[in-house]
Amino acid sequence: MLLNRAESYKTTCSYCGVGCGIIVHKDSNGRISIEGDKGHPVNRGMLCSKGMNLHYTVADQTDRLLYPQMRWGKNQPRQRVDWEVALNRAAAVFKTLISKYGPDSVGFYISGQCLTEEYYLVNKLVKGFIGTNNIDTNSRLCMSSAVAGYKMALGEDAVPISYDDIELADCFFIAGANPAWCHPILFRRIEQHKQKNPQIKVIIVDPRKTQSCALADLHLQIRPGTDIVLYQAIARILIENGAIDQEFIARHTEGYASFRASVMQTSLEEAASVCDVTLQDIRKAATFIGNAKGFISMWAMGLNQSVVGVKKNVALINLSLITGHIGKPGSGPFSLTGQPNAMGGREVGGMANLLAAHRDLTNTEHRKEVAAFWGVDKVPEKPGLTATQMIDALHEGKMKAIWIICTNPLVSLPNATMADLALKKAKFVVVQDISMNSDTAQYADLLLPAAGWLEKEGTMTNADRRISHLSKVVEAPGEALPDSEIICRFAKKMGYHGFDFKDAAEIYLEHCQLTKGTNIDVSGLNYKILKNKGTMQWPVPLSNQKGTPRLFTDKRFYTVSGKAQIHTIDDGFNLSEPLTTTYPLILTTGRIRDQWHTMTRTGKVNKLKQHISKPFLEIHPIDAIPRQIAEGDSVIVSNKRGSVSVSAVLTEDIKPGVVFLPMHWGRTFGKDFSRTNNLTNSLLDPSSKQPDFKFSAVEVKKYVKP
Ligand code: SF4
Repeated sequence: MLLNRAESYKTTCSYCGVGCGIIVHKDSNGRISIEGDKGHPVNRGMLCSKGMNLHYTVADQTDRLLYPQMRWGKNQPRQRVDWEVALNRAAAVFKTLISKYGPDSVGFYISGQCLTEEYYLVNKLVKGFIGTNNIDTNSRLCMSSAVAGYKMALGEDAVPISYDDIELADCFFIAGANPAWCHPILFRRIEQHKQKNPQIKVIIVDPRKTQSCALADLHLQIRPGTDIVLYQAIARILIENGAIDQEFIARHTEGYASFRASVMQTSLEEAASVCDVTLQDIRKAATFIGNAKGFISMWAMGLNQSVVGVKKNVALINLSLITGHIGKPGSGPFSLTGQPNAMGGREVGGMANLLAAHRDLTNTEHRKEVAAFWGVDKVPEKPGLTATQMIDALHEGKMKAIWIICTNPLVSLPNATMADLALKKAKFVVVQDISMNSDTAQYADLLLPAAGWLEKEGTMTNADRRISHLSKVVEAPGEALPDSEIICRFAKKMGYHGFDFKDAAEIYLEHCQLTKGTNIDVSGLNYKILKNKGTMQWPVPLSNQKGTPRLFTDKRFYTVSGKAQIHTIDDGFNLSEPLTTTYPLILTTGRIRDQWHTMTRTGKVNKLKQHISKPFLEIHPIDAIPRQIAEGDSVIVSNKRGSVSVSAVLTEDIKPGVVFLPMHWGRTFGKDFSRTNNLTNSLLDPSSKQPDFKFSAVEVKKYVKP
């Protein structure tokens, strides 16, 4: 939105899923500065360290990819080419591969940082025109278990609550998440709420005593992987204490009888022993939840990035359902999305197993609707390959080419050495990004320069379904183009129709029209409304509506019966990589406060390096001392997949038997460190296909100079 003669603009932070509003000021010399938008419903003027330094990433042009680069043969150096040459070559290679090996021989790997318009176009291109569902996104690594869990329990991938419910809740159950560092403004709102209302209760479940625990009334420092056992035990105590909502269960849910029978078999003493917490603390958690008038559960990667991630999600949602804490003020199960537009990507169906506008890929009628809308014969029925499956398929030679947009899988994928081998074997790799020297870019046969934040217009949807418009403020440098324009130009080179858009607003309108009549209907929206009225939460079916802050207020769910599903979870035991005498420690990975993903932007901001400047290993003294490891020692963390070299941080904040590495550093920023994901394993949740980043077997040894 233009505020003051083209000098101030409204936009949204492009880092995490909180979705804070930012006002960008541009002075007469074109210099930009930013401040938190005081009128924004999410952050009310606040910004975290990453957000308040975001403008430096626009100003810093080092490592910026400025023009297309291409190599004509695998071992040849890349050369500068113009857009015509670059896209003609890409189209020629893709046409040849598709005609020779079929459409499933190519795939697209995109990002939760893409704008909704870009996500929509790639999805349309791949599923509608190329004729494969081989499109997946790095959101597979962070929230696909939550998508599956919501669908199983509520019949739809739908976050029920709004951030404004935070100030109405009196009990928070934060599991497998460190919002103080990873969703800081959201955490700040909980903190302010608790400062004003000290009686509200905060329960944190995490094998590490994180910064978020500063707010905790109760920290359940469970053994990694035992989350379901804990939730079952809490459910049993709630039932025994009569602290459940019998009327809600009877009228609005299905499956309770079987669930009850199952959890009543849970031995509480055994559960406490399995989780390695006291039964007294489990009872305390159940009491806090049972006494709450408004109960919000929040979770992130600690639940989702697991070989039983979907079951963990469903087991946690069960606590909201048996207590009737959904569809009412201050209550609901709330999955914290990691990326700024992971939710928007889900809206357009931008994953291998999804269809546009939350339609069902397995539903013939739904596929026909989408095909008719796009003017194509069909959308393929067979689910596409997910993130790690694409890597496997490249490695096995089944997939020949991959197009990677706005993400750095060579650092972020699990078992990253496998990704190295796969990209080496690929016949053709396209990398479309703002950076020239990412770990992934080195494998590109074709490097395409993309416009970044503030250099293009579009929309994003944050973790509470809030859609916001992002303004274009500055021109992209060199020959960089908005991702949507690159995709449209490529589609036309391929000979496809339906990619002639006047501007981003037209692309957004097409997406909105495709949602008409669905559960996420936003056909009432357009850029003009978003710019004039501000952000809105879906669904917004009519243009005179203000959006829908809270779902399920009528207690009707999106299931066939209209009732929420309470699932009996019969497998509470961890199926992760077994520990051995050679690799006896559990490695868990995560983020630090001032870095974002693989550091391709935050790694260049000096102010952000001041917090933590190099990778480290957290290890408990109980594990360090027998290994003769002292604070600051160089250590080698290793397993059968690889090793990393890093300094040790001895801390009692981590559970004995568990070690922690931050996931951010790759080879570009890490130098001798290498990558954390050299160590993580290839195990997936069987349903969501989300990798098991939080549990790998490793050993740690003190580094001794040869
Ligand atoms: Fe950006 Fe997230 Fe920080 Fe808000 S909390 S400023 S969205 S990184």
